[in-house]
Amino acid sequence: MENQLHPEIAKLSLVSKHNHAIDFNEPKHAIETAEEVALRLPAVLQTSLELDEVINLFHKEISKVLPYDSLHYLHQAMHYEINTGSRSHHSCNYRLEMNNVWLGEITLTRRKKFSDDDTQLLEDLLCKLIYPIRNCLLFRQAQTAALQDKLTGLGNRGSFDSSLAREIDLAHRQRIPMSLIVLDIDHFKAVNDNYGHSSGDLALQALAQSITDTLRLSDIAFRYGGEEFTLILSNTDIESAQLVAERIRTAASQITCSDGNRTFGFTVSLGIAQLNQAEKAATLFDRADQALYLAKKSGRNQTVCADRPISKEH
Ligand code: GH3
Ligand code: MG
Ligand code: MG
Repeated sequence: MENQLHPEIAKLSLVSKHNHAIDFNEPKHAIETAEEVALRLPAVLQTSLELDEVINLFHKEISKVLPYDSLHYLHQAMHYEINTGSRSHHSCNYRLEMNNVWLGEITLTRRKKFSDDDTQLLEDLLCKLIYPIRNCLLFRQAQTAALQDKLTGLGNRGSFDSSLAREIDLAHRQRIPMSLIVLDIDHFKAVNDNYGHSSGDLALQALAQSITDTLRLSDIAFRYGGEEFTLILSNTDIESAQLVAERIRTAASQITCSDGNRTFGFTVSLGIAQLNQAEKAATLFDRADQALYLAKKSGRNQTVCADRPISKEH
């Protein structure tokens, strides 16, 4: 079979466990059915941008011509781990890299040792997987970036809207409580005015870090916009949410920032609402936001629960 690989692919570092560098310019001698699979593979793998799906399609196609017991794909940094079948004794492992970009690691196992012909065939087929994997990873990166606030690394408004809808749906279906906290920095305009906008940015980053450190893994924090943050607390009633809010308020009041010469701190106000029966996102948010408004009106640096009397605890 004539080698028709894109010239860039020759730069790939595709290294087997035994450290055999693959020569992509070598002519390939595949059996006919394998040739058919190899020909069809690029079109098949192009049908999805979801990595799980692409790896599964790859597995389905290549297992027709290369018998094995399990396939394992791992990309730790991107949190991908995909498994098919159950591990056997003999393994064949490839690290996939393109132009110094890590594309993950793929391992096939089976009871019978892999022959040279088998690994040659596998390498031919893996060449067709490189670009689809890269496209999936780029797509995932773009998706993540679209949902992330660049300054703080927290989820952004779009991500909050979809997460809130999902969590509300879950809470209603499973009949479990859930609460929402809306948080706003007090007199933040004065921070910018007194210490400069970039010091204000540092304060936003420090607050985001402090919120993340204070939350449980199951809770999610977002930068709703400007100096306003939202927190979705799943499986949490208003009493527990109030404890969380107070922990965050106290931690925020202890943050120290600097403009290079002077140090400064700030406080935050928080409004909380617990999801009512059959309640929708808009009214839950409005009630938490109204509670925040009351916290501001009542002197700031405090937490107010929706539908409850104001309690000052500091
Ligand atoms: P309040 O206690 O009533 O919330 O007063 P405040 O000053 O915090 O509220 P106001 O809405 O008057 O001002 C919000 C300020 O937040 C003004 C705006 O410049 C600042 N801000 C919003 N986004 C950013 C940002 O990304 N970086 C910085 N440094 N400042 C921001
Ligand atoms: Mg504010
Ligand atoms: Mg505000």
